[in-house]
Amino acid sequence: MSVLITNIGELVTNAPRDAVSVPSPGPFDLITGAAVVLDGGLVAWTGPATSAPAADEIVDAGRRAVLPGFVDSHAHLVFAGERGDEFAARMAGQPYSAGGIRSTVAATRAASDGDLRANLAKLAAEMLAQGTTTFECKSGYGLTVRDEARSVALAAEVTAEVTYLGAHVVPPEFAGDPASYVDLVCGDMLAACAPHARWVDVFCEQGAFGADAARAVLLAGEDAGLQARVHANQLGPGPGVLVAVEAAAASADHCTFLTNADVDALASSGGTVATLLPAVEFSTRQPYPDARRLLAAGVTVAIASDCNPGSCFTSSMPLCVALAVREMHMTTAEAVWAATAGGAHALRRTDVGHLGVGARADLIMLDAPSHAYLAYRPGVPLIAGVWRGGERVV
Ligand SMILES: [Zn+2]
Repeated sequence: MSVLITNIGELVTNAPRDAVSVPSPGPFDLITGAAVVLDGGLVAWTGPATSAPAADEIVDAGRRAVLPGFVDSHAHLVFAGERGDEFAARMAGQPYSAGGIRSTVAATRAASDGDLRANLAKLAAEMLAQGTTTFECKSGYGLTVRDEARSVALAAEVTAEVTYLGAHVVPPEFAGDPASYVDLVCGDMLAACAPHARWVDVFCEQGAFGADAARAVLLAGEDAGLQARVHANQLGPGPGVLVAVEAAAASADHCTFLTNADVDALASSGGTVATLLPAVEFSTRQPYPDARRLLAAGVTVAIASDCNPGSCFTSSMPLCVALAVREMHMTTAEAVWAATAGGAHALRRTDVGHLGVGARADLIMLDAPSHAYLAYRPGVPLIAGVWRGGERVV
């Protein structure tokens, strides 16, 4: 059954008109006074409402804005417990460190599959209600063969974008022998997780994993058929970005502390996206990444939530867009592009993040006349409708 959404005040397509191919980095295209036709789960037509074709069902958008669904390319949703006290202590002056992850690891290991599945489903529903139609989900709070394997298996129940993050932090039982933990991550743990995952990730940071360990994890993952992505340069300068580019990773995530060499490497990488996670800086009071420096260098920039119980417990892409605009000086168009098409690039997806003809019919309607309202009216629930695969789900 085809659906015509018409009387759209502003239709953000992120696509050259009438193009089937994936948009190249940058083009934020919109049509005013627009309509879109959804058919067979795909975008079948976009253009001026006055020349829209007929369809089985008509939805009047009432001059509201319609955008591609958000693509959240970085989230940690398989966990148990919460860390509200740690957040409160941080707001009272204690710094964030990678060690807090260990308290979530203990809670996750102790949780039943049913509890982990219920928490995951709740967060996935929360994301959908806020306009996120594609999301990535990492393991990384199990850190045993059993707990990482069940984490990726549970994640695979809710998304195709599953990331094996055994190399999140060295668990306490390996504190005296981190090299043996890296061997486990590259060996039995990888073998148990690879069948459920598409991606391999490593937290390459002081206090987590250094360059050599990160390279070993990414290489082993690639040998098992997984593609690379890296947590890089979040807490200080380090080798993460260069390791990511060297591994031809799809994305280097965080990118807060960058040298000129890091920026140059990303700009000339030919496909490693810089994924910025501004809600983390909001929630940790760390400095924001320099988005303008990356954009000026021609780096492809994505925005994602990094939803996790420690450094950033928001699942809201509209909040991330607002922070990107207000705090990182991105334009409203750049921020919306980064939260949709940018996320798709970071996941190497050509079917989402834009509304070109042939794209998956994943789109959101705002209770507002333009995309700018996502930053102009921060904190206000503006998602008036969500279609996923052509079906209205919100
Ligand atoms: Zn993360």
